[in-house]
Amino acid sequence: MNRLMFYLIVAFVIACFGVGAVNIFGSHGAPFVVYFLIVVVLLALIFKRSVLVLVCVGVVLFYFWRPFSGSASAQSPTSCPSAPRAGSALRGPYSSIDQLMRCDSVGPYALQLTGSGTTEYGFVILRDRRGPSYYATAPVRSSQVANPSCLQRPMVQPQDFLASWMDAINGAHVDRGGYVWAATVHTHPACSMASNNFTATDFNQAIVLKNAPADSVPAVDIEKIVMINANDRKVRAFTPMPGDTPFTTFGIETSDRFLPYANLGWDQYALRVQVVTAYP
Ligand SMILES: [Zn+2]
Repeated sequence: MNRLMFYLIVAFVIACFGVGAVNIFGSHGAPFVVYFLIVVVLLALIFKRSVLVLVCVGVVLFYFWRPFSGSASAQSPTSCPSAPRAGSALRGPYSSIDQLMRCDSVGPYALQLTGSGTTEYGFVILRDRRGPSYYATAPVRSSQVANPSCLQRPMVQPQDFLASWMDAINGAHVDRGGYVWAATVHTHPACSMASNNFTATDFNQAIVLKNAPADSVPAVDIEKIVMINANDRKVRAFTPMPGDTPFTTFGIETSDRFLPYANLGWDQYALRVQVVTAYP
């Protein structure tokens, strides 16, 4: 193998660890990265590889500069409408998905249900066909088997979102044809992940929903997917675009289980993610 290529790969892997550490531990990740860099620099000096040092420093700086954990969304001053009646099956109306996530208690509630466990919770945001009024359904637990380990955390499945939607439509006694799915929302438990951002699987689901057939039941007209992360309590949103392409199975496996940063598709979508708000 070309020597420079080898250095680049080593540097890239180290950079991924570094960015992952900061994502997981927040500012506590920085000492970890510094420690890691010192080790690399020492090793490089011992083996007289100054190129390796330069490449490492360069790549780490580059990855810190790029907002791979989502950039802040343009926050217009949020004025919240009066809270919906307690116990209503459809929570709203709100003028946008962002407003709903910032103002309604359903987001903090989903986070509270997730708690310190490893199981995801999720709900759906519906849009009234007659105009831009948004409503939230109630959070449901992932139907996957409870697992105390973060390695196989139970994730919210399409049928779980469907169950939440059915409950809301039936509970609110409304015509199901009057609303479209505008967003799905799910939590990420406080598990150590390489990134606090969406996974490749999440991005994929957004792209699949974006391309849902016009006559699908329930009606889907996805604007964004939303995720509440229990690690940093931030609410992130991703807006799929018409030209977005799904990941390969290999891409999902490596990105979800290994290093998302090494997947250019993931990088590209992660850079588009907006942080809508953070819960106290
Ligand atoms: Zn997810």
